[in-house]
Amino acid sequence: MKQNPFFPSELISSTYRIDFERLYEEGFRGIIFDVDNTLVPHGAPADEKAIRLFKRLKKIGFACCLVSNNKRPRVEMFNRQIHADIVWLAHKPLPGGYRKAMEKMGTNKDNTLVVGDQIFTDLWGGSFMGLKTIMVLPINPKEEIQIVLKRFLERPILGLYRHSKAYSKEHEISSDNPRE
Ligand SMILES: [Mg+2]
Repeated sequence: MKQNPFFPSELISSTYRIDFERLYEEGFRGIIFDVDNTLVPHGAPADEKAIRLFKRLKKIGFACCLVSNNKRPRVEMFNRQIHADIVWLAHKPLPGGYRKAMEKMGTNKDNTLVVGDQIFTDLWGGSFMGLKTIMVLPINPKEEIQIVLKRFLERPILGLYRHSKAYSKEHEISSDNPRE
């Protein structure tokens, strides 16, 4: 799908609100997930919600890979009850981690999507490779200073995106969003 590489393909309030069944029907077969603030708060282990989500994704038929810039023990700790493929120290937004993930999942750039909470790391990496990207709002509002700085830089891009045709307000706003 042709898209503006500076924008996410979709913006949804939470990973847990994404209509994965629809995405499977649309032909997607692999999902690359960021971990911190996308699936759980920064540094947290998998919770019930996350475990349930990955069981559901497996049932639908998706291959899943966690792609994190964090170190191996953090990603393995999260993955203990998730059983997805993993890529640690991925150096997002560079393409290597995404390529490795697609190799592990046996998918390609036309049927793989990226879910993450940061435009410059998770989503730019994916969209410059031509993958569909879904941006979610971060789970934990308490963030490290360098992430706060990146959010400040993200703001004007998000502002432009919210005024563009690709944006859907209903998707972003929901009672599930811990920030609202
Ligand atoms: Mg993140």
